[in-house]
Amino acid sequence: AELYSVERWGNDYFGYNQDGFVTAKTLNTEVPLMDIVQGIAERDLSMPVLLRIENILDAQLFRLNEAFARAINVCGYQNKYRGVYPIKVNQQAQVVEEIAAFGARYQHGFEVGSKAEMIAVLATLEEPGSLIVCNGYKDPEFVELGLHANKVGFNCFFVLETPSELPIIIERSKALGIRPRIGVRVKMTTKVSGHWNTTSGDRGVFGLSTTQLIDVVDELKQNDMLDCLELLHCHLGSQIPNIREIRSGVVEACRFYADLIKEGAALSYIDLGGGLAVDYTGARSTDGQSRNYSLEEYCEDIVDSIKTTMDQYGIAHPTIVTESGRATVAYSSMLLFNILDVNTFEPTNLPEQTENEHQQLRHMRDILTYLRPQRVQECFNDAHFHRQEIRELFKRGQIDLRTRSIAENLFLDILHKIADILDQMPRIPSDMEGLRESLADIYYGNFSLFQSLPDIWAIEQLFPVMPIHRLDEEPTRQAVLADITCDCDGKIDRFIDPWTGAKNTLPLHELKRGEDYYLGVFLVGAYQETLGDLHNLFGDTHVVSVRLNSDGSYDFVKEIQGDTIADVLSYVEYQPKEMLERYRKTAERAVREGRITVRERQQMMKAFNASMQGYTYYEEEHY
Ligand code: PLP
Repeated sequence: AELYSVERWGNDYFGYNQDGFVTAKTLNTEVPLMDIVQGIAERDLSMPVLLRIENILDAQLFRLNEAFARAINVCGYQNKYRGVYPIKVNQQAQVVEEIAAFGARYQHGFEVGSKAEMIAVLATLEEPGSLIVCNGYKDPEFVELGLHANKVGFNCFFVLETPSELPIIIERSKALGIRPRIGVRVKMTTKVSGHWNTTSGDRGVFGLSTTQLIDVVDELKQNDMLDCLELLHCHLGSQIPNIREIRSGVVEACRFYADLIKEGAALSYIDLGGGLAVDYTGARSTDGQSRNYSLEEYCEDIVDSIKTTMDQYGIAHPTIVTESGRATVAYSSMLLFNILDVNTFEPTNLPEQTENEHQQLRHMRDILTYLRPQRVQECFNDAHFHRQEIRELFKRGQIDLRTRSIAENLFLDILHKIADILDQMPRIPSDMEGLRESLADIYYGNFSLFQSLPDIWAIEQLFPVMPIHRLDEEPTRQAVLADITCDCDGKIDRFIDPWTGAKNTLPLHELKRGEDYYLGVFLVGAYQETLGDLHNLFGDTHVVSVRLNSDGSYDFVKEIQGDTIADVLSYVEYQPKEMLERYRKTAERAVREGRITVRERQQMMKAFNASMQGYTYYEEEHY
């Protein structure tokens, strides 16, 4: 079980038990994921399934808010923390509703970047006094929604991304007679490492330059509204791996804050945006998929930096706001799927040498007679040479398919034996690096990478992947994963490794006849659901939401059926009813022209209809 280093990346939410099952854990309970898989099957939902565990989302909101509260206490900070969840990170209604409910005790609010997101929040958030931070470009309608939000009891801030938004805010607020609460987003010069570092720097597309900031202050002054400027906003980037960069960004933000106060602004909130990273690999390093700090360190560094800087200028401590998205939701969702098939790259059925065997085959068999550590490179070269010769002969029609098949098998046999020797050698010659990986099995999983894990394809994101059972057995295979789209990019061939960052194969168990083998891809709650697409027309998976109970049982809180084939076809403008009618006509013509019987026509129509209403993924039986 240590092979999968759950304790490194699991954040205490995942573990395994003595029976070899991966478990989901919260403070007072632990439930094997296979129990939930069984419950899913009993409810007639087939794999793949996106599983959400409510308690984990609840616990993450608790940990974030409590960690800031503790840091505020420890540092003697004279104000509070108010978190907001940026809904773009996962806008699914169920997730947003849960955040609103679990976050109410902390007045945890939301960050929105569009009118649609604003409306989703207005219809979900209940707790009066919660913050709504409006980023993104705002038209008069967006501004009006925000002004109303203030009237109904929320603390809604318009964060200026560009100076052109200000006249709209001034005009709308005067027209409606509602005082706006304004924030300014400043362009930071602190550069951060990782994937999402283009947010900061001079060419960052968001935020005001110093000149624009001065213009905004002057314009507010002219309109007698400088007291509306209450919030300073900055966002260095998402998934910031290095705490030193965060600290340096906070100090820069504080400098802006102090000087805007000097300019007469009534600032009392400092919003540091997102950036709190998730340690996807468990490496605790500064590469982009990890982080070199704990949640406690993050909170303390922020609180301490703000306090120190503000005290230096004799300014009252502001309310601290952060917009943690990824860290809030990543842990609570996982993708579960079954393995459909395996392709191995092993020699099979190697026949004994015969007297009249082709000379090239004999050359290949000879390689095994001189294979030893000192001649390993030579054997590698010879195996490739003779295989190429055989392929050429096949192309010219001089050997048959069976001979070629024996040659390909001999080749694999030699490469496996070479790989065994390399495993024992202190240094692998560069030509043969990656040989073991090139012999890895391909496990075919019942999922679409493009629909459920788009960041693996788009930005080479790493997620922990592992079997969710059989951890009490040694995994004897090394594998890569392929999905069921017919796209060669639909594969996972980089896996987390806490010690090296990433590795190219995943240890897996041999499939057992008649027994399903289930894998989980973990920490997928952020971004994956809404960025996924319909490649090959694989649609949304089923989503199951559970709550773990302290007695080790669990409740199915919600089940959302995944897309049917009719659903995905209608997304690309087909009319399922019309399609049925067209197919009926084709079948009817086949009856008329004697190709099928009426009975066969009926069976075909039934199958067509059942498929239309069925799941887009591989199903054992679909009707
Ligand atoms: N706030 C803003 C303005 C963002 O653009 C983002 C995402 O990039 C976030 C918050 C969320 O960041 P994270 O997911 O790193 O917490």
